[in-house]
Amino acid sequence: MAWNITGHEWAVEQLRISIRSGADAHAYLFSGPPGLGKRLLALRMAQALNCEHGNGDPCLTCRACRRIERGNHPDVRVASMETQAAAGKAEEATRQKELKIATIREWQRDVSLRPYEGQRRVFILHDAERLSEEAANAMLKTLEEPPPYVTLILVADSTDLLPTIVSRCRALRLRPLPRRQVVRALVDRGADPQTAALLAAWSGGRIGQALQLLETPEAIARRDEQIAALLAVHEQGRSEGLRWAELRAREYRSGEQETVFAWLELWQSWWRDVLLVAAGSPEGVMHIDRQADLERSAQRHTLPQIYAFVAQLGQAARYLRDNANPNLVLENLALHVPGRE
Ligand SMILES: [Zn+2]
Repeated sequence: MAWNITGHEWAVEQLRISIRSGADAHAYLFSGPPGLGKRLLALRMAQALNCEHGNGDPCLTCRACRRIERGNHPDVRVASMETQAAAGKAEEATRQKELKIATIREWQRDVSLRPYEGQRRVFILHDAERLSEEAANAMLKTLEEPPPYVTLILVADSTDLLPTIVSRCRALRLRPLPRRQVVRALVDRGADPQTAALLAAWSGGRIGQALQLLETPEAIARRDEQIAALLAVHEQGRSEGLRWAELRAREYRSGEQETVFAWLELWQSWWRDVLLVAAGSPEGVMHIDRQADLERSAQRHTLPQIYAFVAQLGQAARYLRDNANPNLVLENLALHVPGRE
């Protein structure tokens, strides 16, 4: 397919038809969990809008397509938490949790200017779920009445945005792909079938995440180590749990918040698997290489115990996002690992 995207066929079809028929919206919102390929879809959309062949598809070979791919086309402007961090002071960057008004102002600075060399000016904003209220309000006017040659694309990991923003965009909500489609894409890129099956399961249908894991074998090894560390917490009692909590709290305070959220997500995926096995439907488990460990956990605990801990892991992440004390949140979690009474 011309867009060179795995999955999301309905979204691609909708976008290309709307470009071809001139019915494309002036503002889009691409949302869905991280690692689905939303960034790539936004990039392809920018290419399709500016491709020198102008037939609704990006050719990926013309000068405009290539410059957009490389991130140096003058009519495509991208902002994100990453560009915000790169523009600011290093010590501030790690503490930033929101897209600030200054970032939005800079991003949409010369929005009223005509395209320099392409057909449309495309403004892509990643991490839109992190817009501060002030920053969100600053873009309302642009969203409402952008100049006719401008397309705005907001990319967000959730739809937790101001309703006034969402209502001004054509929203495309992306979903994880079927596991077999991820397996096929990985095998096509040279993965052996066993690795492909494992990464497809781990990624939960998030193709972007699966491809990233495929390209970074050290990430696979690291994930194995993390699972081993979590199993040690399950096996070795309270002191190991508290040690784990202490390490994570230290990471969190030193600016590695996302690492800690990734730990919580991994841990939650483990216990969700235990829940599936305990409930007698192991087909959907994510940790397909750890069946024996999952079964052992499932036998040791009751469904309500398992379910309660899955919920508690989600709650811990929410407390952290709400700026609760990381030591308290993580220690409390470690003290409630099932089977520790
Ligand atoms: Zn092209």
